[in-house]
Amino acid sequence: MGVLDGKRALVFGVANHRSIAWGIAKAFHREGATVGLSYAGPALERRVRPLAQELGIEFVEPCDVTKDEEIAAIAAKARDHFGQIDILVHSIAFADREDLARPFIQTSRAGFLLAMEVSVYSLVALARAFQPLMPAGGSIITLTYYGGEKVAPGYNVMGVAKAALESSMRYLAYDLGPAGIRVNAISAGPIKTLAAAGVSGFKTMYKMFPLLAPLKQPVTQDDVGNAAVFLASDWAAKITGQVLFVDSGMNIMAFPDKDTLVREFGAGD
Ligand code: NAP
Repeated sequence: MGVLDGKRALVFGVANHRSIAWGIAKAFHREGATVGLSYAGPALERRVRPLAQELGIEFVEPCDVTKDEEIAAIAAKARDHFGQIDILVHSIAFADREDLARPFIQTSRAGFLLAMEVSVYSLVALARAFQPLMPAGGSIITLTYYGGEKVAPGYNVMGVAKAALESSMRYLAYDLGPAGIRVNAISAGPIKTLAAAGVSGFKTMYKMFPLLAPLKQPVTQDDVGNAAVFLASDWAAKITGQVLFVDSGMNIMAFPDKDTLVREFGAGD
């Protein structure tokens, strides 16, 4: 018996086997959900189809979330295929590489708007398009990072986008609450993915993370998948508008411990 038996889930944002969305899809499948996948565009199909076959997933559809007509089309296809859905996962973000490499103050107008459109507005657009497919209520989950709350050097415009994403998540939770649709975010620690590779300084951050986080463990796609199962399940029935940290406890730290500072940075008294 799975925690998600009988539930239908649509997961946006699978690019390859490293994607957080794929970790979530696998966990949902393991827990008994019927899963559908969406990917950004034709270029990704050859990567995503074999993954879908691994789990026997039938619904595999492209959707560029910057295009209203593509969102409407996938919502219509999902209605034909599933009738209703119970779970929607938004695991999508994009910013121009240059905007993640130079100081935040240099962010271009176009780069700012692009990051906000793909990484933030898409959640609003998908929630609106799929609300009619959730007449019995449901769970919407998005992915965020602590750089939306505090400054994470190099995260730049994506940090600003995550702040807006978390706020959008709360406003959506308010709007959709009366319909029994819960909206939450998972704030994940650093995980090696395609999107993460675009963040300057990511490798160093990834290496340092297990030294600094209270649990001393890196975060995996499976860890995020398991937390998503909880948020998607009836066990989380009264939880909405929340950011759930899956980060080995990193967000509670104000400062690294002295031993780490001495060892890694040569700092001393
Ligand atoms: P990923 O595998 O690269 O996933 C990002 C996804 O967004 C890709 O499938 C990407 O497709 C898609 N996307 C970009 N533009 C799109 C568009 N216009 N329409 C539809 N899809 C589009 O990387 P990930 O790390 O799993 O990222 C998933 C989410 O987790 C993101 O919101 C990210 O910010 C968040 N997150 C990641 C980490 C981390 O350390 N990896 C930590 C915290 C939060 P393309 O490949 O075609 O662009």
